[in-house]
Amino acid sequence: MAQQDDVFKKIVSHAKEYGFVFQSSEIYDGLSAVYDYGQNGVELKNNIKRYWWEAMTLLHENIVGIDSAIFMHPTIWKASGHVDAFNDPLIDNRDSKKRYRADVLIEEQIAKYDEKINKEVAKARKRFGESFDETMFLQTNGRVAETAAKRNALHERFAEAMNAGNLEELRQIIVDEEIVCPISGTRNWTEVRQFNLMFKTEMGSTADGAMAVYLRPETAQGIFVNYLNVQKTGRMRLPFGIAQIGKAFRNEIVARQFIFRMREFEQMEMQFFVQPGREMEYFAYWKEQRLRWHKALGLGDDKYRYHDHEKLAHYANAATDIEFRMPFGFKEVEGIHSRTDFDLSQHEKFSGKKIQYFDPERNESYTPYVIETSIGVDRMFLSVLCSSYEEQQLEGGDTRVVLHLPEALAPVKCAVMPLVKKDGLPEKAREIVNDLKFDFATHYDEKDSIGKRYRRQDAIGTPFCITVDHQTLEDGTVTLRERDSMQQQRVAVADLHRLIHDRVSLNSLLRKLA
Ligand code: ATP
Repeated sequence: MAQQDDVFKKIVSHAKEYGFVFQSSEIYDGLSAVYDYGQNGVELKNNIKRYWWEAMTLLHENIVGIDSAIFMHPTIWKASGHVDAFNDPLIDNRDSKKRYRADVLIEEQIAKYDEKINKEVAKARKRFGESFDETMFLQTNGRVAETAAKRNALHERFAEAMNAGNLEELRQIIVDEEIVCPISGTRNWTEVRQFNLMFKTEMGSTADGAMAVYLRPETAQGIFVNYLNVQKTGRMRLPFGIAQIGKAFRNEIVARQFIFRMREFEQMEMQFFVQPGREMEYFAYWKEQRLRWHKALGLGDDKYRYHDHEKLAHYANAATDIEFRMPFGFKEVEGIHSRTDFDLSQHEKFSGKKIQYFDPERNESYTPYVIETSIGVDRMFLSVLCSSYEEQQLEGGDTRVVLHLPEALAPVKCAVMPLVKKDGLPEKAREIVNDLKFDFATHYDEKDSIGKRYRRQDAIGTPFCITVDHQTLEDGTVTLRERDSMQQQRVAVADLHRLIHDRVSLNSLLRKLA
């Protein structure tokens, strides 16, 4: 774990050093859990968004996009349940004065039991080799069965307390499990309190006339309140989806782990409206589709897993997370939720407007059911960054830091470098840049030795470097160097466009999904 922590620290400092992510307001000592994206970060982030947007809106003819405002009528958040129920249970340690989410402390305790069981299983697998039967082992090994029983009992007690919103019981679990504060090491806990995560501000110029409004904590409600507009003006027929990318704000109690948990972040959400009764079919469909979208990036299939929810939100009848193996463990990157007709019905009730769909085939009106896919851009960014980062030992004792970014997501696709700054080579290199730049993000670099220039591009994940030398002037060929293999080949300038395009275009990624 310590080693993983080290790697994560290196990734965070690499992200800063190479212009991916900066702490917000850094020259004023920063603002907690708020981050800015730098010159390379914004490109990577935009490419992730484009991959999602095009996978949704180009590949599905029944999905359209919208861009709704961050400010919305405050009653929307009453209707959605956020004013009353968008809370996290918080607890403070009196000695360290640190604040925690009570549910997270307990979830981490459950994860500790799981880890213990997994370790025993791994040990036994090593011992028994091919003949190892995991199910049998879990049932018959006394020590493991005991840990599993404790874990399951805790899980059940926790789920019950959360479902009932029983804050005293949450505290009692923390006490009974002897959970200590990681900073002070003590069990001197306060009571558990509910904390609403929405940011509130005022709209309007006069003190009396001002209206309290919220910064949206999710983009989804902007879609629900526009359901009728889109359905009518787009003449949409069920099933159909509305996609949106935009900022969301949550006053998170504990904001740790870099851009994993932020107070201002970005979501990519799609609400898919279906006939009542068909929601499970589409839930299964979207679960599978979304995992395919992730896996197509080639970061490694073993890095993903589903986590089905046992405790469902008040509006859901099925929910699953897609988790990604971050350096700090498997963590949620995306949620897929079957939200029933909860949101549309609530908005119908609170607005007094009829929000229904007239089904011409059934010749009746009803409230559609909804399947939601909701993914955080920043968490996606973090998963891509973490799994791409490598410190590589090279032959001859040299090392390099390389980002093996999926080529279609890389901020810069190719860098053009004259071998020396004379003899007409810079002019020739510029000529190539001026041609390629219309299709690819292309850098020109003439500073330092060619080796240093390669390392700089490796560190930001540029898939191709093109070196212009004296031979280029004679026969119109250049050296094309590939980031991951570092292999170089001599190719004609005329072929560059095709060679690069085949590898870096978003097209090739999207085609994997078709
Ligand atoms: P968590 O349990 O981690 O707080 P959540 O279940 O509340 O997340 P959702 O409300 O389902 O998250 O939001 C959908 C997606 O939005 C998440 O899968 C995640 O990728 C992203 N997200 C949610 N909260 C944050 C945050 N504070 N910072 C960054 N991304 C977030």
